[in-house]
Amino acid sequence: MGINERIKSAAAFEQAQKVIPGGVNSPVRALKSVGTTPLFVREAKGAYFTDIDDNRIIDFCMSWGVFILGHNNAKVSQAAVDAVNRGSSYGIPTLAETTLAEKVREAIPSMERLRFVNSGTEATMSAIRVARGYTGRDILVKFEGNYHGHADHLLVSAGSGVANISNASSAGVPTDFVKHTAVLPYNDVEALRNYFAENGDNVAALILEPVACNMGVVVPTEEFLKTAREVTEKCGAILIFDEVITGFRLSRGGAQQRFGITPDMTTVGKIVGGGFPAAAFGGRADIMKVLAPEGPVYQAGTLSGNPVAMAAGIETLTQLSRPGFYEELEVKSDAFIAKLEKIIEGKGIQLNRCGSMFTMFFNDKSVRNFQDTKRSNQERFARYFRNMLSRGIYVSPSQFEGNFISETHTPEILDYVLKSIAESID
Ligand SMILES: *Cc1c(COP(=O)(O)O)cnc(C)c1O
Repeated sequence: MGINERIKSAAAFEQAQKVIPGGVNSPVRALKSVGTTPLFVREAKGAYFTDIDDNRIIDFCMSWGVFILGHNNAKVSQAAVDAVNRGSSYGIPTLAETTLAEKVREAIPSMERLRFVNSGTEATMSAIRVARGYTGRDILVKFEGNYHGHADHLLVSAGSGVANISNASSAGVPTDFVKHTAVLPYNDVEALRNYFAENGDNVAALILEPVACNMGVVVPTEEFLKTAREVTEKCGAILIFDEVITGFRLSRGGAQQRFGITPDMTTVGKIVGGGFPAAAFGGRADIMKVLAPEGPVYQAGTLSGNPVAMAAGIETLTQLSRPGFYEELEVKSDAFIAKLEKIIEGKGIQLNRCGSMFTMFFNDKSVRNFQDTKRSNQERFARYFRNMLSRGIYVSPSQFEGNFISETHTPEILDYVLKSIAESID
């Protein structure tokens, strides 16, 4: 296929860098770790986006997993436009907030009560505050390589964009702010048991990605998730599933439905806002009761429950509740993954996958935790990324991120992608 030279995007990046640090509003977008510069998008539809140099590109990043229905779904966009035409924010309750909350709870029944915020970062930050307020304890336990947004107390060995920076935690975060955060290795049942045996009674919450996606896709063992449930229950700590990426992705009810494990609290984001800034945190009614105005834990937001985002979320969840939606997505993903497995056989690549999300690690050994991911070959991945791009395919620009198959990725598109992968790995 071959794509046009990115002349306009290069100029746009120059201009952006003069006013926006690094030219981007989120670091991984800069494409620095894959040795190139960003494409600037003009528009998107279905499985494609078009950049300002008129390249029509197949997207596997899909706004980091937001667009399970594809970009610019006609009904979702129309719902948002209709909402804008009625006024885009009031700071006063609307019916849409209750409607979307009911739809979320219907899909994820463990979210007995929930509240909307504007980003996944806010959702996890708020869930943790609620857990601390409810338990009266301070310690938060997280896993290495799991990403829960960029709140201060969570920037400890974070994955995703931060994993590409040599220092795992961020400058600008006082040591005192992270002193109540403990970090354990993912998928390590023994470390989890040992930690809770010693410190469990002081733990407010254990937060985890029930399938890790922000260090690349890393699937938990069943025993690991079971143990997380068991040790928290035993000592009265709150188990928080951060389903910002897995919610409405791995099944209608997220990872908790897929694996049959019920957390005390859950955060969702990305898909739930239908492409607009919305996320939610929620859980057991008795826990959520501690939130103001009912209880003593403060949390608020000028644009929280924004009517445009609610309208897009409602339409998205309505389409996702169509019988067979997830089964079809799974079957299509199964077929793609089976072919991909053959292509990469003997090539020193680990294919990690759950449902419609997957990562190819350029790594000789299986990848089960963050330390494993770090042994992956960066240069080889960077070459692969650039080779794919030259064939008109935008895979997630880091092997520490997921790729996402949407409803609009047709078997024809996927076959072209497979052929391109075969040509792009060395
Ligand atoms: C994306 C993500 C977040 C952060 O959400 P933002 O909307 O980017 O703040 C938190 N947790 C997980 C698991 C995520 O994938």
